[in-house]
Amino acid sequence: MQNNINQIAALMANSRSTTVVTGAGISTEAGIPDFRGPEGIYRKLGEDKVMRIINIDTFRQRPELFYEFYREHFKLAEVAPGRAHYVLAELEARNYIHGVVTQNIDGLHQKAGSKNVIPVHGTADRFVCQKYHCGAVYDASTALSSPELVPRCEKCGGVLKPDVVLFGESIQNFMDAQDSILSAQLLIVIGSSLTVYPLAGFVRAFDSFTQDLVILNKGPTSMDHAARVKIDAPGTTGAVLEQIAALLPERGRA
Ligand code: NAD
Repeated sequence: MQNNINQIAALMANSRSTTVVTGAGISTEAGIPDFRGPEGIYRKLGEDKVMRIINIDTFRQRPELFYEFYREHFKLAEVAPGRAHYVLAELEARNYIHGVVTQNIDGLHQKAGSKNVIPVHGTADRFVCQKYHCGAVYDASTALSSPELVPRCEKCGGVLKPDVVLFGESIQNFMDAQDSILSAQLLIVIGSSLTVYPLAGFVRAFDSFTQDLVILNKGPTSMDHAARVKIDAPGTTGAVLEQIAALLPERGRA
C-alpha cells in the first residue's frame, strides 16, 4: 500500500498534465451512497427499475412518478464535501491537478474549491423550466420547496426539471471531457467502476501505453488491467489522497 502511494506521488510529481475522473464512489465518504454499493438504489430497488424511473421519457410522460422517486432518493443539498474533495481542490491550487471530470451531480468538487471541474451528468443544484422559450432557472432549494409534488415555473407554469442528465439524454460537456482525458499525461480515476458510458469509453480510449493510468476504487473496474497503479481503497480514499498530497513538494500555486 505505502509503495503504491509513493508511486502515485512520483507519477504526479513527474506529470505536466493530470486529469482526475471521479464517480459516485468519491462522495460515499461524504455521505451520499453510490448506486451500485450496499446502500445504493440499484441494490435496494433493482437497476432496471431505477433506470426506468430516472429516465427522460418517464420525466416527460409521468412527472409525478419521477418526482416521487427523485424527492426521496436525491437529497443532495445538505451534504458537505468529504476529505477527498478537499484534497483534490488543494492539489489543483498547488498545480498538481489540471482538471476534474466528474460523473457526479452533487456539486461537491465545486463546494470544496476545485475550479476546473467538468461535470458530464449536470448538477442537482439547478432546475430549469421545460416550457419552450421559457428556460427560467431555479436553485434546488426553491424548486424542491414547492408544496406540489411536481415543481412548476413561477413565470409560465411549465414543469421544472433538475439539470441532471437522465437515462436517455446525452451527456454534457462531451468534447471538453474527452479532451481533458485523452490529452492528460496522467489520468487518475477515483470512485468509478468505469461501466457508465460514454465516460468509461473515454478512459478506455486513453492510451495507457504512452500515458499513465491510476485507479483508486473500492472493488474492480473495467480498466484495472491497464492501470500502472490500482489501490482498492482499504481504509478511506480521503486518507489515501491526503498521504499522497503530503509527499508532494511545493510546485508554485496555480
Ligand atoms: P459507478 O459505476 O461509478 O460506481 C461507483 C464505484 O465507486 C463502485 O465501484 C464502488 O465500489 C466505488 N466506491 C464506493 N465507495 C468508495 C470509496 N469510498 N472509495 C473508492 N471507491 C468507492 O457509479 P454508480 O454508483 O453506479 O452510479 C452511476 C451514476 O449515477 C454515476 O456515474 C453518477 O452519474 C450517478 N450518481 C451520482 C452520485 C453523486 O452525485 N454523488 C451518486 C450516485 C450516483
